[in-house]
Amino acid sequence: MYHLFVCTCMHCSFNFMCSCLAPGNKFSLFILSCCRLCPGWKNFMIEFGKYEIQTWYSSPYPQEYARLPKLYLCEFCLKYMKSKNILLRHSKKCGWFHPPANEIYRRNDLSVFEVDGNVSKIYCQNLCLLAKLFLDHKTLYYDVEPFLFYVLTKNDEKGCHLVGYFSKEKLCQQKYNVSCIMIMPQYQRQGFGRFLIDFSYLLSRREGQAGSPEKPLSDLGRLSYLAYWKSVILEYLNCHHEKQISIKGMSRATGMCPHDIATTLQQHSMIDKREDRSVNLVKKFLKYQDKTVTFST
Ligand SMILES: [Zn+2]
Repeated sequence: MYHLFVCTCMHCSFNFMCSCLAPGNKFSLFILSCCRLCPGWKNFMIEFGKYEIQTWYSSPYPQEYARLPKLYLCEFCLKYMKSKNILLRHSKKCGWFHPPANEIYRRNDLSVFEVDGNVSKIYCQNLCLLAKLFLDHKTLYYDVEPFLFYVLTKNDEKGCHLVGYFSKEKLCQQKYNVSCIMIMPQYQRQGFGRFLIDFSYLLSRREGQAGSPEKPLSDLGRLSYLAYWKSVILEYLNCHHEKQISIKGMSRATGMCPHDIATTLQQHSMIDKREDRSVNLVKKFLKYQDKTVTFST
């Protein structure tokens, strides 16, 4: 038995064969990502539209691109290139000014496009590679066909600029309504993450099916979801004046799955438990006091 360790990080060529090598014996291949251990990733940049962006994590771009200090991306078709000159030549003939799909939402200068991974495979693969630069864990890069990608853009006279996206499995047995969600660094902390989360629940409500994001969530994702869930629950409680409300009813109205609602109520200490499976909401969270929440089975 011998072990070959190969790093998938794009900045180093970590390729280690352990000393227990015995030719002809069994062989185990370990794919690793040294990621934060590798000094190279810290210096990796992408040029994207008018932005030059420092990347956060490694992404499995092909080796000949991965070794470069900087990648040049077309901000519309997401094709990656080795030099500014190639990008300039590409831009003249690209002809894309928005994601390759139907626009399903527009308000002011924001649009959402629903891109089918089966129809626009290369675009979706490039989107996944780009997203991985800003996500600590993500496994989907190439098998994009079973997914829809909801791409949020900010529009001006030059075109529809990528703000972020979430992907969603077309047929998901676990009822996940978001597989992966990412906001480009230049658009973070401006409410776009919340917008996309809200949009994913809007789709769930339209499907008549409560949803939940795929686990595990990234650190940033967990914080965003907890804040979102809490605000939606508070809004619901303040709009519903009945003395008794059920988690099932909240789930129907919000598209959030009952488990996420219950977890949020507990994590924010919003409820006092009783022995009879019903709970009282903590009064400070209510305009209208003495409300009881029941856990519907
Ligand atoms: Zn292009």
